[in-house]
Amino acid sequence: MATVFEMIINGEIPSTRLYEDESCIVILDINPVSKGHALVISRKCYPTFTDVPMETLSHMMEVARKIDRKQREVLGAEGTNIMINNSPASGQEVPHLHIHVIPRFSGDGKTPVFNKEKYADGEMGKYGELLKI
Ligand code: AMP
Repeated sequence: MATVFEMIINGEIPSTRLYEDESCIVILDINPVSKGHALVISRKCYPTFTDVPMETLSHMMEVARKIDRKQREVLGAEGTNIMINNSPASGQEVPHLHIHVIPRFSGDGKTPVFNKEKYADGEMGKYGELLKI
């Protein structure tokens, strides 16, 4: 079944488009964390960050940076959250790669993205060994 983003790309459902080229489109998120929250979406449906070719991903990051600059210039954003939810366990709802670019303002009171956890004594070193690449 087509993802909601494929339907947007195919013009089957409406969207507010900010940009498009041969490998991605940018739209406004319909349910924004803050006004101007944008989604950089791969034109081809790669389900996750893990699946997308590096060339496409780096192009999408370049586009995300242009959107970040525009949000700062035009909306006066003082910061942005650049986020990719990667697989359902991380909160990804639409299985079609997209980068969130969310305008942020000092003291805007938005809920922190992560609830943090604590390492037990000695555990951080173990994770450090496990995750070396
Ligand atoms: P994620 O949880 O990372 O998969 O994010 C999916 C995002 O897509 C959510 O922030 C939704 O609000 C957004 N979304 C879902 N449907 C639409 C739509 N039709 N137009 C614009 N944004 C959408």
